[in-house]
Amino acid sequence: MSTLFLRTLRQDPADADVDSAKLLQRAGYIRKAAPGIWTWLPLGLRVLDKIESIVREEINAIGAQEVHFPALLPREPYEATHRWEEYGDNIFRLKDRHQADYLLAPTHEEMFTLLVKDMYSSYKDLPVTLYQIQTKYRDEFRPRAGLIRGREFIMKDAYSFTIDEEGLARAYGQERSAYERIFRRLGVQYVIVHAVSGPMGGSESEEFLAPLPIGEDTFALAPSGRAWNVEALSTPRSPDVEYGQTERMTCLSTPDSATIETVVSQANALHPRADGREWRACDTLKNLLIAVKHPEDGDHDRPWRQIVAIGVPGDRQVDMKRLEAQFAPCEIEEATEADLRSHPEFVKGYIGPMAVGPQARRNDSIADPVRYLLDAHVTRGSEWVTGADRSGFHVFHAVFGRDFEADGTVEAVEVRQGDMSPDGSGPLSFERGVEIGQVFQLGLKYSKALDLKVLDGNGKAVPVWMGCYGIGVSRVLACIAEFHHDDKGLAWPAAIAPADVHVLATGKDDKAFEAAERLVASLEGEGVEVLFDDRRKVSPGVKFKDAELIGVPIIAVAGRDTVNDGTIEIRDRNGDNDEAVPVDEVAERLVRRVRDMHRS
Ligand code: ATP
Ligand code: MG
Repeated sequence: MSTLFLRTLRQDPADADVDSAKLLQRAGYIRKAAPGIWTWLPLGLRVLDKIESIVREEINAIGAQEVHFPALLPREPYEATHRWEEYGDNIFRLKDRHQADYLLAPTHEEMFTLLVKDMYSSYKDLPVTLYQIQTKYRDEFRPRAGLIRGREFIMKDAYSFTIDEEGLARAYGQERSAYERIFRRLGVQYVIVHAVSGPMGGSESEEFLAPLPIGEDTFALAPSGRAWNVEALSTPRSPDVEYGQTERMTCLSTPDSATIETVVSQANALHPRADGREWRACDTLKNLLIAVKHPEDGDHDRPWRQIVAIGVPGDRQVDMKRLEAQFAPCEIEEATEADLRSHPEFVKGYIGPMAVGPQARRNDSIADPVRYLLDAHVTRGSEWVTGADRSGFHVFHAVFGRDFEADGTVEAVEVRQGDMSPDGSGPLSFERGVEIGQVFQLGLKYSKALDLKVLDGNGKAVPVWMGCYGIGVSRVLACIAEFHHDDKGLAWPAAIAPADVHVLATGKDDKAFEAAERLVASLEGEGVEVLFDDRRKVSPGVKFKDAELIGVPIIAVAGRDTVNDGTIEIRDRNGDNDEAVPVDEVAERLVRRVRDMHRS
């Protein structure tokens, strides 16, 4: 440490917002170069190298081959997949001296696809999985949390190429289990979260989230341990309700009741329930109109707009993101006044299930009825207070399946803490996490966009099935620091610590320094990695503080006790297993402790 390029800080850097960012800077692992852009110092690089090695070992073990692409890339491939535009402000774009467009790659699907297209042409060449560990660039709107959301960061990205969907499922499964081994070895907790998957086959996706309150992602956790992205949650089917006893549907006057709140109060004031309980928002069915924005297709030579009606329980808020996920790749938005005007059957604030979907199709006076989708919480046979398509009126006792029908079901409303989980194992709870990895079945998206085809067994050119698999290597480092620290500093797991043992020589007596030097030499001779605090004019207090900050898992101190009674103190960074060991036994004891530590 007398020569190590290191300067520890006693104070937290002013703009560090999470513990990992504070401690990695204070302990001299990284320095800030610009917002979201970090310089790696010697200690930081050592940890990073160890993480990369573990990732490499496990990814190599499933037969993937490492390549390395440039980060600086031309525009054209990204233009072909529309990502040059789709990434919006998130990409760093630049021009060369001839005014040609370039970008700093945010991810490399295009380049891998083109590389395989360039070199392979037959099904006999497949399957193949390629990967790299490389620097990525994204001009994140809000870089935050140190390495967790950087603008320059390190990613392992792998891409599988297979002749069919089964091959894709196999490659996906291998990659997924390699991730489990990697994260276990790295000592980072993770939850596998089902992410949005599109309607087509070969589109499964799961995210590995580190469960941390500082995370920006919310996931829903079932008592079974399974977890979902909010957008990927589906509501379990409830059994149909028996409606034999339900009163006849009636249309009643409810003046000035264009909102759920006013419907409920008017219903209670003017039409109290027979059973004595109050009408509540959950008794009402709210119908709203959305516009689905379709891209051009076989029937339309330009993008087109489709109005769809959605019915949801009045006590639930619509979640536009969840709803949109089910219309992918289309986008959705709330219908505008103009949309409403183009459908004279709708009375704003009083839209009911009779003016939409199957019911409206039976009504000759409604030209071109819109599709009607019911939220999955609306059970068949349940009764509702809902719009009567007449200003100031609602229908009461409208039974789904008796009085009205729908064209289908959607997940339209926000999920609540306590809602039943999709696997029926009990109520959902919401947790926060940081996405550390993702496995994704791309299907044919990129091979079609970039025309990657190979000849199949019958000599026919077919598109290649692709999967992509990312790990945020620098982000993982920060997450490990989040899980493994205390108020004194970092406390690395053995597998990735910058050293196994931190040897401190303290005091002014040469004897302590000589004993420490001999210890370091024997440990290194046994292949133990040592960080040696051999600084002469630094007080013991500062050395202890630095050791706790830096976080090497085992600390050995040669000092006054070494001089007085010939012992060296050894202990774990977390304060356990403190023992004073005679100088001539200490190397052997430490070697054993280090080996045990790496085994466990
Ligand atoms: P996020 O939702 O957090 O922005 P993402 O889903 O856009 O991430 P991917 O494109 O799936 O990210 O990238 C693969 C991995 O790269 C992520 O799982 C994450 O671990 C890491 N990563 C993504 N963005 C960043 C970033 N700005 N800084 C550090 N790591 C990142
Ligand atoms: Mg992702």
